[in-house]
Amino acid sequence: MDSQVLITGSSRGIGRAMALYIAAQGHPVIIHCRSRRGEAENVRAAVESSGGAARVLQFDVNDRAACADALAADMERHGAYYGVICNAGVADDAPFPVLSGEQWDSVVGTSLNGFYNVLRPVVMKMVEARRPGRIITISSVSGEMGNRGQVNYSAAKAGVIGATKALALELAKHRITVNSIAPGLIDTDMTQGVDIEMVKKYIPMRRIGRPEEVAAAAAFLLSPDAAYITKQVISVNGGLC
Ligand code: NDP
Repeated sequence: MDSQVLITGSSRGIGRAMALYIAAQGHPVIIHCRSRRGEAENVRAAVESSGGAARVLQFDVNDRAACADALAADMERHGAYYGVICNAGVADDAPFPVLSGEQWDSVVGTSLNGFYNVLRPVVMKMVEARRPGRIITISSVSGEMGNRGQVNYSAAKAGVIGATKALALELAKHRITVNSIAPGLIDTDMTQGVDIEMVKKYIPMRRIGRPEEVAAAAAFLLSPDAAYITKQVISVNGGLC
């Protein structure tokens, strides 16, 4: 279990693609969901049918106590993680004057509180394991450049980038790298309502990305070849910013 990787929000979308890709590289993967347990179990079955190892955890990353309990129990049984990918996130867009408190809280809570709630319980165990480790956060082009109608989402993702860089400084001496991947527009449930033909005009590559293209970047950051890369934001966005 020395190379096991937790991927939050891996029942669907980018997280699912990362779980499949990373499992194919030989890592046991911990698949995670908030509510769609059936979809998470399907990912586990897909990993196992390809010869990989997987298990499923279910908790709300915005619930601090639930994160602490679930992660402590899992690490007690399976040991410290080699890698953690903080991927779980939601978008709930509205122009700022009509952005509700609930929209602010759920989006910031999932991405930014999720960073603290998931990583705080696992980092000390990673340090105590006295071996190299990898932490990857999934931010967004929206956190890098800001996006109209996404003040909550841009704030959450910019916060994740800042937290990633600060944590990288703290963990570098322990050989644990901390980087962020900032995707552009990726074809998942999250982008189903987006007018793709319209936004394609603004993407230099004139297409949206595939979840597997984000997964490939994550797999590289997990690899031994990426041991000297830390505190970086890797954009996977077709040249958008
Ligand atoms: P999806 O909506 O396809 O999937 C979201 C995943 O996150 C699901 O597994 C969901 O679990 C989980 N999740 C959501 N909220 C919580 C929560 N409170 N607690 C635990 N798990 C939760 O999203 P994407 O795959 O598109 O996005 C993945 C990440 O990439 C997000 O952080 C997103 O912000 C970021 N991103 C996405 C982009 C895109 O264009 N798609 C662009 C830039 C960044 P369940 O299935 O149980 O609901």
